[in-house]
Amino acid sequence: MKKPKMKKLATHTLGCRLNQFETEKIAARFEAYDFGRVEFAESADLYLINTCTVTHKADATCRQMISNVARRKGDAKLVVVGCYVESDRQRVAELPGVDLVIGNREKNRATELMSNHWPELFGEKSEPSCAAGVSDFYQRSRAWLKISDGCNQRCSFCIIPTVRGPLRNNSAANVIRDINQLVAAGYHEVVLTGVHIGHFKDSKAGVGSLTDLLALILAETDLPRLRLSSLEPQVVSDDIVEFMVGNPGRVCRYLHLPMQSGSDAVLSAMRRPYDRTRYIEVIENLKSSLPGITIGGDVIVGFPGETDEDFERTCEIADGGSMDYLHVFTYSDRSGTGASAITEKCDPKLVASRHRRLRKISKARLAKAHSAAVGAVVSAISENRDEETGRWWGVTDNYLRVLLPEGVGGDRRIHTVFAESCEGDYLVSKPNDTTRDNARDNIDGIASTTAIR
Ligand code: SF4
Repeated sequence: MKKPKMKKLATHTLGCRLNQFETEKIAARFEAYDFGRVEFAESADLYLINTCTVTHKADATCRQMISNVARRKGDAKLVVVGCYVESDRQRVAELPGVDLVIGNREKNRATELMSNHWPELFGEKSEPSCAAGVSDFYQRSRAWLKISDGCNQRCSFCIIPTVRGPLRNNSAANVIRDINQLVAAGYHEVVLTGVHIGHFKDSKAGVGSLTDLLALILAETDLPRLRLSSLEPQVVSDDIVEFMVGNPGRVCRYLHLPMQSGSDAVLSAMRRPYDRTRYIEVIENLKSSLPGITIGGDVIVGFPGETDEDFERTCEIADGGSMDYLHVFTYSDRSGTGASAITEKCDPKLVASRHRRLRKISKARLAKAHSAAVGAVVSAISENRDEETGRWWGVTDNYLRVLLPEGVGGDRRIHTVFAESCEGDYLVSKPNDTTRDNARDNIDGIASTTAIR
C-alpha cells in the first residue's frame, strides 16, 4: 500500500528559551501524525507560531509574522499559540488568516486540540505515547529543558505572571529522565530554562533548591555541559556560586541576571526584590569567584518617572566592569500591570537616546569580553554556518562567539579550539594543536574590574 505523503509542519518561535522548548515539545508530537519539519519560509500544511507578549514591540512582531504567513499560506492551517494569545485572545483570533488559537494553559494539549479540529489533516491515528520529553531540537545543536513555569513575583512592569500563571516546578525525576534522553540523542549541552528557575524545588524528591537539582543532574547524568538560562539576582546564593566554581567545564561560566535598572528609586517602583548595592555585590562576587565568567542582564529604559540621574546609575553598573553584555528593552505599558497606572511617562526621544547609549556600552563590553579570550584554549559547540566562509559559528561555555576552524562543527559535540584573534564581538579560532605552555585556558576573562558603589 502506497505510503501517504509526508505532511509538512513549519514552526516559528518568538520570545524566550521557554517558548523555544515548548515549540519543540508541541512539534515532537506531530511526528506521530506523519508530519515532517520544514523551514518556516517553505510551504507547509500547517504553520505554528509560538508568540511573546513581553512588550508592545513583541505584540507587533507577532502580528507581522502572522500576516506574513496569512498572505502566503493558501489552504494551509495557521495556528497561533502562547503568551500573546493568553494576553489578547480575541484580537489574535480575529487576525486575518488565523485558523486556531491556543493559550499557554492549553499548550500541553495543542496537538490533541489541532487533531480534533482537523481530523482530515491529522488522520485517524490516535496520538501514540511518544517519549515524554523532547529528544530533538529542530536544527539546533544545544538543547533547552523547561524545569519550571510561571512566576509568583509581581514586578510592576511585567505581564508574565498574568500570561503564564503562578510558579510551578517540574519534578526532579522528570528533569533527570529528560536530560538522559537528550544525552542519548547526542546533545552535549542542555540549557535549563523557566520563568523563575531560581525558585526550583521538589520537596517530595528531597530537592530543596536549584543547587540541589544541579548536583543531582551532574550525579545522575553524563551530560558534559549544563547551562543556566536566566536567574533573578536575588536568588544567586553562595551555594550556587560555590557549585559553579566547584564544577569547571560541566557547569557553564555564564549567567544572565536581569538588572532592569541601576537606580534604587526605579528598582523600588518596579517592585524588584533587591537594590543596586545587592546587584553589584552579586556580579562582583561572581567575577572574582569564577574567572572568565560572562555576565549579562536585561535592562529597561524609560520606566515611568526615570530621571537622568536614575539612568546614570544604570550606566555606572552597565559600564562598571562586571557586566559583559546587556539586553536593552524600552519600557512599554502592559495592561493590568502596576506600572501602567503611573502617569509620568518618559519622553520617547529621550528614551530612544538612552537605549542607544546602553546598546553602545553593551557592544563595547562584549568586545572586551571576547578580546580577553584571545590566546586561550576554548571549548565550543557549533550553532550555525557562516554564509561567507562556510565555517561554523560556535558558542563557548562562557557564551563567547567563536568562528570554528575549517571542517569543525556541524554536530552536537564540544570542540576544543585555540582562540587566535578577535574581530569585535567574535573570536577566530584554529585547531588546538598548541603545546600547553604557550596557550592558556580560557580562564582569565576580563583582567580587572573597578569596584563601583
Ligand atoms: S520575576 Fe518579575 S520580571 Fe521576571 S517574570 Fe516574574 S514578574 Fe516578570
